[in-house]
Amino acid sequence: MWRAVVVVCVLCLMALSTPSCQSSGVPLQERMARGVNGGSNCATCSIVLGLIYQLSEIHNETVVKAMERLCSFLPSQFKEPCDVAVDFLTPFLIQIITDEETPDAVCLSLGFCTTDPGHQTCRLWPKPKTDFNSAVKLRRALIEKITRTKLLEPSICKLPGIKEICAWVDTTIGHHLPSFDVDVDGFSNVQTLRGYSWRGADCNDDRSDVHPGTRPVDSDVTFDSNCNGIYGSDPTSTRPYEDVLCGGTQPRGIAVLGDSVGAHFHLPEEWFDSRKLSPKVFENLPFIIENEIDWPEMSSVTGTNHINCFYAKLHLSVLHTLLYSTSKCGLVLIIPCNIIKSFNIHSLRRNQLKDYPMLIIYSLVGNDVCNGHADTFAHMTTPQEMYDNALKTMLYLDKVLPPNSSVMMTGLAEGRFLYDSLHDRIHPIGRLHNDVTYPDLYDYFNCLEISPCTGWMNTNKTVRDMTSERAEQLSAALQDLANNNASLFTNFKLYYMECPLNIGFRFWAKYGLPTWKLIEPVDGFHDNQFGQALTAQIAWDYFEKNHPEILGSINPNNAEIERIFGQQGGYRN
Ligand code: CA
Ligand code: CA
Ligand code: CA
Repeated sequence: MWRAVVVVCVLCLMALSTPSCQSSGVPLQERMARGVNGGSNCATCSIVLGLIYQLSEIHNETVVKAMERLCSFLPSQFKEPCDVAVDFLTPFLIQIITDEETPDAVCLSLGFCTTDPGHQTCRLWPKPKTDFNSAVKLRRALIEKITRTKLLEPSICKLPGIKEICAWVDTTIGHHLPSFDVDVDGFSNVQTLRGYSWRGADCNDDRSDVHPGTRPVDSDVTFDSNCNGIYGSDPTSTRPYEDVLCGGTQPRGIAVLGDSVGAHFHLPEEWFDSRKLSPKVFENLPFIIENEIDWPEMSSVTGTNHINCFYAKLHLSVLHTLLYSTSKCGLVLIIPCNIIKSFNIHSLRRNQLKDYPMLIIYSLVGNDVCNGHADTFAHMTTPQEMYDNALKTMLYLDKVLPPNSSVMMTGLAEGRFLYDSLHDRIHPIGRLHNDVTYPDLYDYFNCLEISPCTGWMNTNKTVRDMTSERAEQLSAALQDLANNNASLFTNFKLYYMECPLNIGFRFWAKYGLPTWKLIEPVDGFHDNQFGQALTAQIAWDYFEKNHPEILGSINPNNAEIERIFGQQGGYRN
């Protein structure tokens, strides 16, 4: 089958170098090859091998034994391809690994890392005791001897055991629509693979007219047509429950159109801390990969607090849950995670006549200023492009959203808080010896030109400042669009607010709270679960205070709905 730990790390690094929402359409092997000096292939090799070196040190064993140990931590279906990859690599590794060698030098020797013409050699780990270049030269000669009998290509996705996984990733994930959707209505009763973690659960996958967020058919007298759990009639009055409990109220759905911040990208930090590696931390690997390393069921907009989440048992003040507490009649959650930049929108399916109104959070946190190029500013969106792209998206939304919907545009993040919060902290991969800081990782990714955001994940203050300046200009373009074009849109009202993340970071800083606690420790780029919950509460408070009509009035029948139908949630099977 398709799995292996090294591949998990392939996915991790793939995700690090190109945040998950951008993954659709481009084969993994091609994405891994982006950048210079070996790009993501090099980073994957150096990081994974670095962790294996640490494991070998912790357990006082050879590097090959430590690789086997790492394979043994995997769920059963992952072990075999992992062992295949290790068997293939072993003859190379036993020839070239010595006590003085570092993972950087080994990956250069193996060919996964290179020094391209006009570029400096990239280094993540501390320098070896011996001369780096001559060590690489020597090992390279040994490798060439072996490759006469065994082909070693400089691509992680071509390694035996791993190529099947890369192929599986390409065909299975990143297509924006559910893989299991019998009636092809865009909703699924499977949680992963763009299923109900992402879009709300289909309570009948044999009927395309039954899915979350529709107005009830014939008042749902005989069955639940809109998956809110409410159907049947009140035995005393014989009136349908949908009429009694939801009639005259303001049910709505919620969706986020955004990037990997909206989808809540999250890599478990235990995977990158050699002291914590164990079978336990890989237990949920299939689920995590099938959800593309995103956690929409726990995100600031579409998360719910009813799920049994396994990485953080936090109460989530997420918008979906808050909105559900306002009306238990109509919620659907949709998180297409489909905007690479301010243009390009797919898969928001709504029926203007049959569906309830939507609250859309149009959230472009940073992709318009974030890229991995050395000449990063040349690849950023300009204010005029931002305005035009957003206008195009709004005109599209006006054609698909049911009347009386709302669209809340949020401005871009102030990404300088990343460096300001993390610049003196140790990254999880460096915790064993306190030898890799976040700036080390930023420099390394920039050297390979695979950073998720060269502009903000940068040790050069001027570059960070200029990136923020562009982000402010782009936010101003969005604000201008929202403030001056109300008459263009008939089916929704358009609003603008500052990026809630910025408000959250200012709030924490003001009260002297450590702002690094709001950032994902592995990628150092996205906000973490605390950040997601905090931003949801900030947005909710802002709506309540300034635009309560977005949220609608509270359904007075909520308690009665819960008494009769339980915590149905509108997103479950
Ligand atoms: Ca379906
Ligand atoms: Ca259906
Ligand atoms: Ca119903």
